Amino acid sequence: MMIELPVSGVEVKIDFDPEAVMARYGEERESRLQRKGFGDFERLDDQRDVSSGDPFMPVVEREPVTEEVEVLILGGGFGGLLTGARLKEHNVTDSIRIIEQGGDFGGTWYWNRYPGLRCDVESYIYLPLLEETGYIPTQKYSEGHEILEHAQRIARHYGLYEHALFHTAASSLTWVEDESLWECRTDRGDVVRARYVMRANGPLQKSRIPRIPGISKFQGEVFHSSRWNFEYTGGSNQGGMTGLNDKRVAIVGTGPTAIQAIPYLAEDAAELFVVQRTPCAVDARGNAPTDMEWAASLRPGWQAERHLSFNSRMAQQPVGEDLVDDGFSRSFTYTMGQHLVDVPIGELGMEDTVRLRQLADLWRGQQIRNKIEEIVEDPRTAEMLKPWYGSGCKRPSFSDTYYQTFNRPNVHLLYSPDSIDEIRENAIVVGGEAYEVDCIIFATGFDTGTFDAGVYGYEVRGREGRTLSDTFKDGLKSLHGFYTHGFPNFFELGLSQNGYIANFTFMLDQKAVHVARLLAHTKQNARNHIEPTEDAQSAWVKTIRDLNKPRTAYFMNCTPGFFNGYGNVSRAFFANTYAPGEVAFWEVMNKWWEDGNCEGLILRSV
Ligand code: NAP
Repeated sequence: MMIELPVSGVEVKIDFDPEAVMARYGEERESRLQRKGFGDFERLDDQRDVSSGDPFMPVVEREPVTEEVEVLILGGGFGGLLTGARLKEHNVTDSIRIIEQGGDFGGTWYWNRYPGLRCDVESYIYLPLLEETGYIPTQKYSEGHEILEHAQRIARHYGLYEHALFHTAASSLTWVEDESLWECRTDRGDVVRARYVMRANGPLQKSRIPRIPGISKFQGEVFHSSRWNFEYTGGSNQGGMTGLNDKRVAIVGTGPTAIQAIPYLAEDAAELFVVQRTPCAVDARGNAPTDMEWAASLRPGWQAERHLSFNSRMAQQPVGEDLVDDGFSRSFTYTMGQHLVDVPIGELGMEDTVRLRQLADLWRGQQIRNKIEEIVEDPRTAEMLKPWYGSGCKRPSFSDTYYQTFNRPNVHLLYSPDSIDEIRENAIVVGGEAYEVDCIIFATGFDTGTFDAGVYGYEVRGREGRTLSDTFKDGLKSLHGFYTHGFPNFFELGLSQNGYIANFTFMLDQKAVHVARLLAHTKQNARNHIEPTEDAQSAWVKTIRDLNKPRTAYFMNCTPGFFNGYGNVSRAFFANTYAPGEVAFWEVMNKWWEDGNCEGLILRSV
């Protein structure tokens, strides 16, 4: 069908009724908001803790450490690694301690090893410091083990192993006013005192297990996707799970993790029950081995150029050609809707542009639903797999095998908008029907969108005993997403009130460079105390909130999920980021550096 844009009368080429689709989106959203269980998570009881512990490496006994260092880095994932690397590169200090919960570096890539694990952002831009370490990923989308190995390569390259305490978690972090130092205590009895603290704990470190009646009675095997039990399943990140050949397996959740794991589980399990609460929208992947001739032709600076191409597209302000050219980067073109009209979109007025974008978003959803109908043979299953929400409501997923998996006779889709009714000793009950299973895998995600003590497992106490949880109870407060008034020399290296759209490691690296530069600058000027003024911080918080208003309106119309705080948009994953995107954010920061007076920061010596 053709519809006309409201102001200009330009025809839009779409083959569905947009009003009917929008009405369906609204109904689905409302019905989900009414249902029990959305955002309702708790840890299993102590006898069955399936989301902590380390199934990959034994914990080695060691004596507690008591020491004083210049910089303490909390977290040894890419955030911590990049911070350590950039501090060394800027010759800031060698007096560094890194505390990491895992048995090695890697963070989320240490814990997540499930079969099928890959980065879904292109590896040539996702894997950081490729030029510095001289490494080229073997595929456009690297497997998990290659990413983990790259994390360890960075640690070796920058000499970071000597600074690490593995299998160690912070239990408290307190500012000692008299000495102008932070004191960190750990679960291994360590006491580390540091002038500066860099928090790089990552948003995906506390796994979520939904609250389901009877969950602790289950007698079979049960684990979270981030603690995969290969002893039970056999195989590896690349599949081959022979331990499941005679097993009935349930996987709960159909987010990006499950989308990657399900085709592998379907290959190996006798029966696979996929428990879906909200269908995921899965776009084409198109992975390929790296063309080594292309790799050899790359000139210095190529990775930065690729980052710019990708980030500018994701912010809908493209620079140069689309070097990444994949589902993420092309989403720019689709979002604008140029392919749906015959006139240049630059000629459309504001009202038409907004409407065209809405239609383009609906069009994208329709393409996915059409694809599902084409691939999935059973019409009832196809219907259940169709997503009914805007494409920005959930993290996009990519796979060339996911929908095909539902044509296998051993795969059963259990659609349960109300979640699982109950778990029995040997079964899950969904929609009133019991399904006997030997193993339950929770691919139910992580606790994101909050910065309170519960998520990271320790409270941060700043000047005059104020806690970060209390300071953030009405929302994040920072200057530029790095520092918070009342918490001197404490830096947030993860997602905060800074630019971020899709490539997490790019954001981490840029933040690491900024902090390394700032510490180098502070030292050169014989200062050792960094804290934002309350006024500068308030102005930045206002900027973030004002710029987020249009996006908040979009999320309010979304189906519940962690992107929109399960309907509570103040807790949404993106609620606090700098809405114009990364390129624009770093332009602000570059200008801040050029101005030369570290506006908004108090730098002094104590
Ligand atoms: P997620 O996106 O939070 O998805 C969790 C899934 O569990 C959703 O399908 C959710 O359904 C479902 N769920 C939650 N509670 C449930 C319940 N009580 N009953 C039934 N289903 C329930 O988690 P994830 O898939 O682990 O992904 C987390 C993040 O990790 C992603 O957003 C992405 O940033 C990252 N990730 C990246 C990659 C990559 O780059 N390769 C791969 C995987 C993950 P609802 O939608 O109804 O809430």
